[in-house]
Amino acid sequence: MVANAIQSSVHMTTDPTYQTALQQYDRAVTHLKLPEGLVEFMKWPRRELSVNFPVKMDDGSIRVFSGYRVHHSTVLGPTKGGIRYSAHVNLDEVRALAMWMTWKCALVNLPYGGAKGGVVVEPKSLSLGELASLTRRFTSELILLIGPNVDIPAPDMGTNAQTMAWMMDTYSMTVGYSVPAVVTGKPVNIGGSLGREEATGRGTIVCMLEALRHKGITSSPKDISVVVQGFGNVGSFAAQRAYDLGFKVVAVSDVTGGYYNPHGLNIPAMREYTNRSPRRTLEGYKGDCDQITNAELLELPCDVLIPAAMEGQIRGDNASRIKAHLIVEGANGPTTPEADDILDDRGIMVVPDILANAGGVTVSYFEWVQGLQEYFWDEDEVYRRLERILVRAYESVVSTQEQYGVNLRNAAQITAINRVAQATITRGIYP
Ligand code: GLU
Repeated sequence: MVANAIQSSVHMTTDPTYQTALQQYDRAVTHLKLPEGLVEFMKWPRRELSVNFPVKMDDGSIRVFSGYRVHHSTVLGPTKGGIRYSAHVNLDEVRALAMWMTWKCALVNLPYGGAKGGVVVEPKSLSLGELASLTRRFTSELILLIGPNVDIPAPDMGTNAQTMAWMMDTYSMTVGYSVPAVVTGKPVNIGGSLGREEATGRGTIVCMLEALRHKGITSSPKDISVVVQGFGNVGSFAAQRAYDLGFKVVAVSDVTGGYYNPHGLNIPAMREYTNRSPRRTLEGYKGDCDQITNAELLELPCDVLIPAAMEGQIRGDNASRIKAHLIVEGANGPTTPEADDILDDRGIMVVPDILANAGGVTVSYFEWVQGLQEYFWDEDEVYRRLERILVRAYESVVSTQEQYGVNLRNAAQITAINRVAQATITRGIYP
């Protein structure tokens, strides 16, 4: 009865991202013979907080912002997941992203459950001082929910290492002593891990290499063209890593549009340009390339497409025009279930988000472990361990794929969900 009540109230979502996450879950669990109540329990968020809070702006006015934090699952350990600043974020989207964090952590065997947070704000429209005030106030609103053994936030879209420094400082000031392990993705000078900033993009490329190997593609990297949508926390580092390994990165994009050169782009020059530009975008970049739209970029002829921007980019209405042979999801939820079916029919392989972008949370875990031990590793050690974890996760997904005869998305979800299910059974239902 209770389960049905939950289902009818939450199932009504109109948010396409949450619809995607729930549909993916429904598809995966049909392959697992799990008790119905357990399937229901793992589907819905464990707890959620919505807050509305005031911030004093530079001009003296007071603005009220809305924020959310969702803990999807606490079965495998404290909850983990980023905080997103975006004008479009909403509670259902955060629920979806928290759910994906649960599967992502389980898939790479991290001792965490999934969480996510968000504030409805366009961060580029705020001054640095306003962002600091907003972050500090939001952290104090979350204080009951976060902690180094409870829930550990990290950067996501629209947030970065500086945001984490403010969160860590606010939490520490409140409890009266420094608690670096309350967040990850911090600046290195206050307990961040080497390699964390580039970890998600780097991990995406580790997965791309595994996928190429599994597809039996042995061409030299210079003959393999790569398109990257997004040039932020994930895309810029994925593009850089692909470029460093000798791949031909033919197009990248950000909110200002796409930049294309079929002979390959100068990624280091583009990264330098965004680092110098006031809004950190590619707007006005005058290198050797043509300007295209984000929609055109997705449909370019290429070998590998890395959507590393946001959700819902590859959908039923454009999936049939995708020309890439391989898609490696740097973003969370870039492909809808409808598009998955079309890509499947067309034989286009998709390395799913919970595997392809798990590098970020994996190095977050390394940061947390290093902080708690107060013993820090060098960058090579971080990269070596990251690669080992991702390759092992990739192999476990391939073995599930063979066992169940499904695509990589279903295989990754089945692997992860089953781990959470078995842990729930082992722990038992309280009381
Ligand atoms: N926001 C990132 C993600 O979606 C990282 C989360 C974390 O490091 O906790 O995976």
